[in-house]
Amino acid sequence: MIPFADLALNIPETRKPRVVIIGGGFGGINLAKKLRGKNFQVVMFDKQNYHGFWPLLYQVATAGLEPDAIAEPLRKLFGSDNYEDFHFRLVKVKSVNPVTKIVHTLVGDLKYDYLVIATGTKTNYFGNDQIKKFSFPLKQIPDALNLRSQMLQCFEQASMTPDPETQQSLMNFVIVGGGPTGVELAGALAEMKRHVLPSDYPGVNINKMNIYLVEGMDRLLPPMSKESSEKTYKYLKHLGVNVTLNTLVESYDGEVAVLKNGDRIHTNTLIWAAGVAGALIDGLPPETVERGRILVNEYNQVLGYPEVFAIGDIALMKTDKWPKGHPGVAQPAIQQGQLLGKNLVRLQRNEPLQPFEYTDKGSLAIIGRNQAVADLPGNMHFGGFIAWAIWLFVHVMALVGFRNKLVVLSNWVYKFFTYENGTRLIIRPFVRKGDRAKQRFVDQYNTD
Ligand SMILES: Cc1cc2nc3c(=O)[nH]c(=O)nc-3n(C[C@H](O)[C@H](O)[C@H](O)COP(=O)(O)OP(=O)(O)OC[C@H]3O[C@@H](n4cnc5c(N)ncnc54)[C@H](O)[C@@H]3O)c2cc1C
Repeated sequence: MIPFADLALNIPETRKPRVVIIGGGFGGINLAKKLRGKNFQVVMFDKQNYHGFWPLLYQVATAGLEPDAIAEPLRKLFGSDNYEDFHFRLVKVKSVNPVTKIVHTLVGDLKYDYLVIATGTKTNYFGNDQIKKFSFPLKQIPDALNLRSQMLQCFEQASMTPDPETQQSLMNFVIVGGGPTGVELAGALAEMKRHVLPSDYPGVNINKMNIYLVEGMDRLLPPMSKESSEKTYKYLKHLGVNVTLNTLVESYDGEVAVLKNGDRIHTNTLIWAAGVAGALIDGLPPETVERGRILVNEYNQVLGYPEVFAIGDIALMKTDKWPKGHPGVAQPAIQQGQLLGKNLVRLQRNEPLQPFEYTDKGSLAIIGRNQAVADLPGNMHFGGFIAWAIWLFVHVMALVGFRNKLVVLSNWVYKFFTYENGTRLIIRPFVRKGDRAKQRFVDQYNTD
């Protein structure tokens, strides 16, 4: 029995082949764009009604941007006036049956001719339930808003807390994971410490604010070049971030983070940016899944099921050049979505499919004002202002929608001249489960 029998997917019957895309991320939207005007009915399922531009999520968390600047409603992208026979439904796909060719949701089932799984990743806590319970992830817009509320509430609370130890714990921020998200977040917090927080909280000694960045490997930004890692380390040190390498965070009970090297940090805020795992969907046989990703051939076809495809972060395509699969960044997802759009047309025409070949356009990470690192094709590495300017340009251009480009650009220009993070709003108070002190703090102002 369907538990939500009062709802229905309501997808019209069609004579055209039906392509069901699960996920409106980088892979899903680029595929859907390519199928516009072709002889398919396209159905997109996503558990959020927007496409998120995750590279700028940390700026929402650190009060630099509002969420609507980094997201685009999927119905706006593919509205019926400009895309015939496109259907979006806000549902979470529960499972698929590749034998009967059916997608299952709690609202109903849908038969497909072609299925594309483009579900990306979810936060990976590596089985540590305690860290999962008490830490702050940064994967979706609600996570960023929770983190923003937490950070601002910590300073509000610190301004009214006479006990020095409690105050210190409120002003200690531990970021776990020295990949791009951890590095960019650490840099943004350090910039706030310099330019924003002292004038916002004149009664609080902001020098006591500590930002810790803990990385398990021997360098920051492990996927990037050694030059970029070293520069990033130097920039963050210069900004006052406490960087610890070769160390894991072993436990966190909401009060103390215990590191493998024996260090103990009292903190109200531990941010988990240490890993992701594929957002798998039930129903595919176990032999099609390896290391949490779906095994695909060079056409993104799931092994054994020629009508089922996986693209983007969820897909594991092993090649001679990329034996462990492509990096979990936006470009492989974009390029695979675009190629699959062309290949589905070829499949309909019984033409041979084109194999996927990844064009690596390089990697970028920003640390602070005039400070970024860039690894570009041709073994070129840049740091400082040049890399920073490239980062700004690439990110504005990559944003989906003219409005978003304009809003982000104007925010950055404003920030550049004023040193202001313009959106320091606690839009909705957030209290992590089990944080009784924060709950009491929020209750005293957030009651009718
Ligand atoms: C904080 C952060 C920072 C990043 N920074 C960078 C960066 O600087 N540069 C870079 O290149 N990459 C960056 N990435 C990685 C990049 O965002 C991903 O590689 C890219 O989003 C992968 O695209 P995708 O289409 O595979 O998945 P996504 O873009 O994640 O899209 C997956 C979609 O599937 C939906 N979905 C998942 N499960 C279900 C389900 N069961 N039912 C319905 N819908 C479902 C989700 O809601 C989502 O909309 C970052 C990622 C994060 C989280």
